[in-house]
Amino acid sequence: MWRRILKLFMRDVRALGDILFPRQCNVCGAFLQNEEELICGACLADMPLTYMWDYGDNSLERRIIDKGVYVVAATSLFFYRYEGYSELIRTFKYQGNIDLGRFLAARLGGVLAQSPRFASVQAVVPVPLHLFKRFRRGFNQSDIIAEEVAGALHLQSFPKLLKKRRYTKTQTAFGTGEREGNVKGSFVVNQELAGRLRRQGICSILLIDDVLTTGATMAAAIEPLVKAGFRISVATLASVEDL
Ligand SMILES: [Zn+2]
Repeated sequence: MWRRILKLFMRDVRALGDILFPRQCNVCGAFLQNEEELICGACLADMPLTYMWDYGDNSLERRIIDKGVYVVAATSLFFYRYEGYSELIRTFKYQGNIDLGRFLAARLGGVLAQSPRFASVQAVVPVPLHLFKRFRRGFNQSDIIAEEVAGALHLQSFPKLLKKRRYTKTQTAFGTGEREGNVKGSFVVNQELAGRLRRQGICSILLIDDVLTTGATMAAAIEPLVKAGFRISVATLASVEDL
């Protein structure tokens, strides 16, 4: 009863809030209707989804395997180099809109939970940021995505399994060739935690990041995990369609 009244009340408060401080779609900037959250219905319907959770040997898997590491399955939720949709990642990552990150991650978790290709996954691990970057940004975007995805899959997230070894400059400052040399060998596995997971029978891990471009960072993160005896699948919020 009280919950219902509170719910009605909150709806009215939001409706009033929408009049005073209109909420806008994070893709197209249109004002949101009362029942809409963060992204308007039209932009959600138009979202350039990859559907790669449905089929193997997709471009993302090939991109990672080309870097010399094995991956069981890989997918992203959407292609982000489309007008407006690239803003979603920027707004989450650089403006710290964590609600938006959680919203997108929950959608990623939803499609993964329905996909037989990801059914063998036993634990979720975010790709870490170097401590300095994490401190500067205040949060690691992959931690937030991993938490949300783990929740959707009824699994646990282990943000301490991988550690970033040294500070790498933001990738965009480098050309493709330099990028790979720059990230290779930059992640290490927490061997004590890895041992504990293996003893619990956990051998299949879903590695999470916000975006996948060349796959170089992802491959660098996968390598020590494979060496530590894990089978790796990959999911990111967004990826680049063609390079
Ligand atoms: Zn919109």
